[in-house]
Amino acid sequence: MDKDLAQQVADIAHRVVASGAISANGHGNVSVRVPGAAEMYFTAGPSLRDHPASAVVRVGLDGTLLEGDLPPIQGAVVAMHTAMYADSPDVGCVLHTHSPYATAYAVARRGIGCWIEAMAMFGLGDGVPVAGYGPRGSAEAVANIRAAVTPGVPAVLLANHGVLIFHRTPELAIQAGSVVEEAAQAGLNAGSLGGPVEIAPELRAAALQRAMAFGSRGTVHA
Ligand SMILES: [Zn+2]
Repeated sequence: MDKDLAQQVADIAHRVVASGAISANGHGNVSVRVPGAAEMYFTAGPSLRDHPASAVVRVGLDGTLLEGDLPPIQGAVVAMHTAMYADSPDVGCVLHTHSPYATAYAVARRGIGCWIEAMAMFGLGDGVPVAGYGPRGSAEAVANIRAAVTPGVPAVLLANHGVLIFHRTPELAIQAGSVVEEAAQAGLNAGSLGGPVEIAPELRAAALQRAMAFGSRGTVHA
């Protein structure tokens, strides 16, 4: 076990909790791809809250446990992480949570649209689709996730379960997870005001371009 990498995974778990895009019980899992190997490091603890590095396990992308102890509840969802790495060489980090507002959409089996600007700015301009229900981590659930994944969109809602984020880096994954949760909360709040209104497609592109233009300039100093 690479202790530094295990500690990095525990740190990512703590940052997910700090982001606020997490259910009260802290349920979820974090994994990172091991560079240059068909393996991932995966949180095998019962909660992301205070997750210790000692409970991080090493798992082959074929699902074989290579190092550590993997309890049944966490073992059941390994396949939805390994599938994301197997399908996309660019994916370096996978997050799964039951963040409450996104999970409300997942339970209602309703996608999240591009009705907050951050969705357009952070690669979610096409919205977040819903993957059909299957018992968590089952072949059926993984097939439903694969069918729902939209090229270029780093998130899917898991019907009657939660949310799955898959991105190049942990930083981008954590950011996408919090944007999805913020959009879901805004969507639900807007429900009592006639419902959320999506940004027009051409203006989503404009929002992204403006964010990129400011991003390329970096921080401006007085
Ligand atoms: Zn779950």
